Amino acid sequence: MHNIDIALVEMTLDVMKYAINRITNTSPELGKPEKAETLKEKVGDTVTPEGIGGEKAFQLFRDVLVKATVPIDHPRHLAFVPAAPTRAAVMFDLVTSASSIHGAYWMEGAGGIFCENEAMNWLVSLTGMPEGAFGVFTSGGTAANLSAMVTAREYWRRRAENRNRKGLIITSVGAHSSIKAMAKVIDADVLLVEVEDLMTAGHLKAKIASLSSEQRQRLFAVVATGGTTNAGIVDDLESIAGICREQKLWFHVDAAYGGGALVADSVRSLFKGIEQADSITIDPHKWLFSPYDCGTVIYRDPELAREAHEQEGSYLEIFKDEGARGFNPADYQIQLTRRLRGLPLWFSLATHGTDRYKWAVERGIELANLAGKMITEDPKLELVRPPSLSCVLFRRKGWQEAQYKDWTFKNHRDGLALVAPTKWKTRDAVETVARFCFINPDTTEEDIRIILDTMS
Ligand SMILES: *Cc1c(COP(=O)(O)O)cnc(C)c1O
Repeated sequence: MHNIDIALVEMTLDVMKYAINRITNTSPELGKPEKAETLKEKVGDTVTPEGIGGEKAFQLFRDVLVKATVPIDHPRHLAFVPAAPTRAAVMFDLVTSASSIHGAYWMEGAGGIFCENEAMNWLVSLTGMPEGAFGVFTSGGTAANLSAMVTAREYWRRRAENRNRKGLIITSVGAHSSIKAMAKVIDADVLLVEVEDLMTAGHLKAKIASLSSEQRQRLFAVVATGGTTNAGIVDDLESIAGICREQKLWFHVDAAYGGGALVADSVRSLFKGIEQADSITIDPHKWLFSPYDCGTVIYRDPELAREAHEQEGSYLEIFKDEGARGFNPADYQIQLTRRLRGLPLWFSLATHGTDRYKWAVERGIELANLAGKMITEDPKLELVRPPSLSCVLFRRKGWQEAQYKDWTFKNHRDGLALVAPTKWKTRDAVETVARFCFINPDTTEEDIRIILDTMS
């Protein structure tokens, strides 16, 4: 497989040329999904005993298959949480692959893990957590939340009386679906504070007071959100931290989406109290311009994470001798063999400097505020709530769910934009509304205008 022949060199050039073109293309065609049967009809059998050849396979990918995907970095992709990886980061993702580094243990990955840790030091500094706090790169927010929840649960179960108890976690309606999903993985129950707007100490206190004594014994953690995925709402972290300290509960802040905003002076005060967390999730693949996939989990006391996650195995022992002189990422989260997924972020930070990151995140916030202003000035539109971080929820007066859906599909079909409706929950009602989430600093005011004009 390693013989370099002419065909392989040509193939490499083709692939590199494609990659360079794609990296430099800031407004790629907005692709759309097709049925698997349709794609199969178009490309035929691709995995065969003889192989179809790299040239053919690549041509099918380039001309057919990639067109059935949606580029998340399109400047008018404002649905879900889009992304806008820097060119530097994407290029270094290629380098990360080409370098074939095993990122689990210092013994094999030292130089690369060093780079990840440089980027991690910066992230930890943004949180304001005390000396000793540190973190590790994961595949994303879900894996980060799971790693934090396992750490919290193991810490709680140190006490003999908790050893056979089923854990209980309190979070809010605004929390991301992965909290509930990962609670299933660790077989813990979840109770929700019934607010989609920000969770405060008052809500949390009332929820704790409503627990039976059996439930109170099982309660071991509170998950607050540092920027809800739906609306960009930051819970009242400082007052929640106070309750957690008082009640001896693990305090996890899920800032997978919002964590990037820690770098933005204009909104940093919203996160006051995050420095008191026991663990924090931040996804660089959301608002820190890294390619997929790249999440992080940061711990106030990484030793607790190591106790929960370190794997043992006879073939792994050697790493712990000679290799133990450095940081072993495998010991602090759920995954063993791992890509050095923090490397693209490191290279991009080193290339651009952290001030550029501050600018790019502030630009997302600025775009949200601009959109808010345009919506307020348009008589047929109305804000549901003021823009928060880079999310904007708004109504097209008179529209019902079906019209929002038609609007989404039409814009996508036309290759114009990907903007999707969402639901906004209040105590009495659930309403379908329109939503923007800005990540890409290349999005312009004109892009927003074009999309709003499709709502007339
Ligand atoms: C996106 C998101 C997650 C899940 O992260 P993945 O990287 O998709 O696994 C978790 N929490 C919040 C708040 C998020 O926005």
